[in-house]
Amino acid sequence: MKIALIAHDKKKKDMVHFVAAYKPIFAKHELYATGTTGGLIIENTGLSVHRFQSGPLGGDQEIGALIAKNKMDMVIFFRDPLTAQPHEPDISALIRLCDVYNIPLATNMGTAEILVHGLQRGDLNWRTIIHERQQKETPGAQ
Ligand code: PGA
Repeated sequence: MKIALIAHDKKKKDMVHFVAAYKPIFAKHELYATGTTGGLIIENTGLSVHRFQSGPLGGDQEIGALIAKNKMDMVIFFRDPLTAQPHEPDISALIRLCDVYNIPLATNMGTAEILVHGLQRGDLNWRTIIHERQQKETPGAQ
């Protein structure tokens, strides 16, 4: 599965600890992240992560574009609800696209725990069916 990881500044430490705690699970999947979050995950866990731009510079929109193309299977986004973000419209757009495309989204660690356990258990295998169907309809799209 393709998993996007994003954390606002005050949540970055939590994200690093979270990914480190579930490293054996994350290691089996393709990881994507906004620039700074991805850099910290790579540095602290050694996992391979495809990094986009930093969130305020367009990283959220890059992840949103993949969601719109059905190329992202899960989003873990540790938002900071207590600090105003300059790119608030991008954040809302990303969350909106997850809802448009039924992409599992966790915006806090409590939900992220459940998603990761579900991922491990195979609860997201329905995404494979979506990919196969898309492959049939538009060959070469994946
Ligand atoms: P960053 O972006 O990982 O580059 O900090 C996340 C954000 O703040 O939106």
